[in-house]
Amino acid sequence: MLELQHIKKYFTVGDTTTKALDDVSVAFRSQEFVSILGPSGSGKTTMLNIIGGLDKYDSGDLIIDGKSTKTFADDDWDAYRNNTVGFIFQNYNIINHLSILDNVSLGMTLSGVSTSEKKQRAQEALERVGLKEHISKKPSQLSGGQLQRVAIARALANDPQILLADEPTGALDTQTSNEIMQLIKDLSKERLVVMVTHNPDLAHQYSDRIIEFSDGKIQNDSRPYQERDDETHFQLVRTKMSFWTALKLSFTNIKTKKGRTFLTILASSIGIISIGIVLALSNGFQKQIDATQAETLSQFPITISQVTADQKQMQKTDSTATNSQQNFAHNTKLTAKANQLTAAQHLNKITPKYLKYVQKIKKSDSKNIAYTYTTGLNLIRKVDSQYRPVSFATTTSSSSESSSAQSMFTSNLGVGGSVYPVDRNNQQSFLKKNYHVLAGSYPKNNHEVVFITDKQNNLNLDALKNLGFNFKDQQKITPKQLLNTNIKVVANNNYYQQLPTGNFVPSKNYNQMGSAASTINLKIVGILRTKSKNSDGLLSSGVAYSDRLTKEVIQENKNSKIALTQKQSTNNVITGSPLKGMEGALTLTALGATKMPNSIQIYPNNFKEKNKITDYLDKYNKHKSKANKIIYVDLAGNITSITGGLMDAITYVLVGFAAISLVTSMIMIAIITYTSVIERTKEIGVLRALGARKKDITRVFDAETTILGVGSGILGVIIAWLLTIPANVILANLTGLSHVAKLNPLHAIILIIVSTILTVLGGHIPARIASKKDAATALRSE
Ligand code: ADP
Ligand code: MG
Repeated sequence: MLELQHIKKYFTVGDTTTKALDDVSVAFRSQEFVSILGPSGSGKTTMLNIIGGLDKYDSGDLIIDGKSTKTFADDDWDAYRNNTVGFIFQNYNIINHLSILDNVSLGMTLSGVSTSEKKQRAQEALERVGLKEHISKKPSQLSGGQLQRVAIARALANDPQILLADEPTGALDTQTSNEIMQLIKDLSKERLVVMVTHNPDLAHQYSDRIIEFSDGKIQNDSRPYQERDDETHFQLVRTKMSFWTALKLSFTNIKTKKGRTFLTILASSIGIISIGIVLALSNGFQKQIDATQAETLSQFPITISQVTADQKQMQKTDSTATNSQQNFAHNTKLTAKANQLTAAQHLNKITPKYLKYVQKIKKSDSKNIAYTYTTGLNLIRKVDSQYRPVSFATTTSSSSESSSAQSMFTSNLGVGGSVYPVDRNNQQSFLKKNYHVLAGSYPKNNHEVVFITDKQNNLNLDALKNLGFNFKDQQKITPKQLLNTNIKVVANNNYYQQLPTGNFVPSKNYNQMGSAASTINLKIVGILRTKSKNSDGLLSSGVAYSDRLTKEVIQENKNSKIALTQKQSTNNVITGSPLKGMEGALTLTALGATKMPNSIQIYPNNFKEKNKITDYLDKYNKHKSKANKIIYVDLAGNITSITGGLMDAITYVLVGFAAISLVTSMIMIAIITYTSVIERTKEIGVLRALGARKKDITRVFDAETTILGVGSGILGVIIAWLLTIPANVILANLTGLSHVAKLNPLHAIILIIVSTILTVLGGHIPARIASKKDAATALRSE
C-alpha cells in the first residue's frame, strides 16, 4: 500500500542542519494500525507529514500503490491529500467560525461533492464518532474529546484509505484517550492507520504494529512488512474550491469579528466617500459653470465693430501717462500729443473677404454669428394727426456734443435704437433667449419692433420723447399707451431733397412721405425685459428692431441719390463740411451706402471654443499693417482665465485628496488582510491538509477582501449620498444655488466596483503570501 524508500528530510536553520528523517525505509499494509513511538524531536511528525503529502521529502521515494511520487505535481499532492489521506491532529485544528457540519464537510466541498450528499456523509461520519446529539452545536461549545471526534469525522468524511494521527490523545485525559483510541482502532479495520504517540501503553494496548523512532531513524519495528506489487490502484480526484465556498468561508470568518470588520470597512470607505462627494459636487458645479458660461457668452460675445477702441493702444498710452504723472518734465520742451481716446480709436475695415473669413469659423466653435447692419432710419410718426420726424435715439438730440465721432454722426443721420440679431433658423431665438415679454408679444416679422425696459421696468424717457411721446419723469405708463404705435420708415429718396447748391436737406412734405410706396410701416408689438440677473442685457432701453429691417432699408437706400452723391464727395453732403478720418465711412454707413455689416457678434459655444475663435481671428491680423488690422473686443476674456483656472485647481486638489485616501485605504486593507492571514494560519494548514490548492488559499483571502471592498464601496456610496443632503443645504445658504451636489447612480456603481478592485488588489499580496505558507509549518503554528 505505502512504502518509504530511503527518505531523507533535513532542516537547515542558520548553520545547524537537523536530520529530521535520515534514510528511512519502511512499508505499510493496506489495513493495519501502526503506532510510532519516539522521543520528542525524533522526526515522527515529519514522517507523518511526508506520508500525508503535507511536506516534501528531500530524497528517496514515497511509493503509493506501487507508484512513485517523484514526479508528483502540486495538484497531485493536493488531490492525494484530499482523496486518500485523512489527518487527525493533537490540537484538533477545528475551524471555530464554521459549524461542526461545515468543518466535517470542508474536504468534500473541495472535491466537489454535491451539497445534499455532503450533508448526508458528514452526518454519517458524525454519527460514527458518536456526536449525533451534538451536530447543531458550535465548535466553541464542545469539549476536547468531542472536538477530536469532530476532527476524526472530518478525516473520515472522504472515506480515505490512509488515516494519519499525530498524537491524537496528547491533550486528552486517560478516560477520553481510551475512547478515542478505541474509535481509531475500529476505523483501522477498514484502512491503514498510522498514529504518532508519546504514550507506549496506549500504543501497546491498541495497535497492531509498533515502530520505534529516534534521531530520524527507525530503531525497531515490531511487525515489518515487505511491500509486494500491489493489486489495488487508486484514482486521484482533483480538488478545487469554488469562489462561493471561499466567500462562505470568509464570510463566516468575518462574522466572528463584526466590530473590527465594520471599522475596517468604515475607514476604507473614506476614500470612496471623498471621491463620491467630489464627483457629486463637480457634477453640479459643472452644470452651474456651463450655465454661467452660456449666459456670460450670450451677453459678451466676441464683437467686431466698425469703430472700436484698440485696447492695447489704450493700455500703452495709459501706462505712459501714469509714468509721466510721477514727475514733471525736467526740461521746458513742448510736444504736441494726440488725445488718448482718439489715438486708440480704430476703424475696422470689414470687407467681403473678412466676412468670408469669419464665416469659416467652425460650427462646433460657434453656433451663432450675428451680423449687425447699421444704417440711418428716416422715421416719421403721426402725433395728434400730424406727421412729424421722430427717431429711435436714446439720448436727447440737443446733447450731441458727445466726443465720440460715431454718436455725432449717427444722431445727425437718424441712427439709433438697438439692433438685435436674427438667426438663420429661428427669427426669435436671440430675443427669446435673452428677453421675456412684459406686455404684448415677441415680434413676428421684420416690421414689428419692441420696446426694451431696464431691469426695474423703466422706459428710457429720451427714447420716448424722440418717438414723439410727451411723458414726464416718473410718470406711470400703461402698455396700451405704447403698444400698436405705428412708425414709418421713409426711403432716402423720399426723405431728402437736393438743394441747388448740391447739398441735401430733409424734405418737409411728410404726408407725401407717409403715403409713398417704398415707405415701411413699423409697429411696436411688445415691451420686453432682460432675463439676465447680472445686467440689463445687450440691448439698451428703447426701441429694438431686427437686423433684417436694417438690411431691407440698406437695400432700398444703397442706390439712393444722397448715398451715391456722398460716395463721390469728400464733404458731408448735408452739412457741407469736409470729412475727416473715419467720418467718411461712418456717413456712408448711416446713409445705407455700404452693404458691409457695422458689427459682427460671434457667440462661442463655450469658453474653450472662445479661445479657438480668438486665435483664429488673431491669425487674420498676422503680417497686416496697423490700419488693415481687424480688432475685436472680447469682454468675456477676463472671466475665462479666472473661472477656468480656479475650477481646474479645485478639481486637482480634490482629486489629489481623494486619491490619497484611496491609497491609504488600500494599504490599510493590505495590513488587515495580512493580519487575517496570520490569524488564520491554522485554518490555512487545515485547508491544505484537506487538499486545498495554493490557489484556493489565495481565493479564500481574495474572497475576504472582496467582501470588505464591496462593503466599503456600498458604505462609502451611502455615506457620500447622505452627505450631499447637508452639503446642498450649506451650499444653498452660501450661494443660493440649489441641488448642486448630486451623486450620479452610474458613478455610485463605478465607485463600488473601483473600491472592490482596489481592495482586492491591496489584499492580494498578503493572500499570495498566505498561499505560499508551508502547510506543515502552518499546522505546527500556535
Ligand atoms: P517529533 O514530531 O518527533 O517531535 P518533528 O518531526 O516535529 O519531531 O521534528 C524533527 C526535527 O526536525 C526536530 O528537531 C525539529 O526541530 C526539526 N524541524 C521540524 N520542522 C522544522 C522546520 N520547519 N524547520 C526547522 N526544523 C524543523
Ligand atoms: Mg511531533
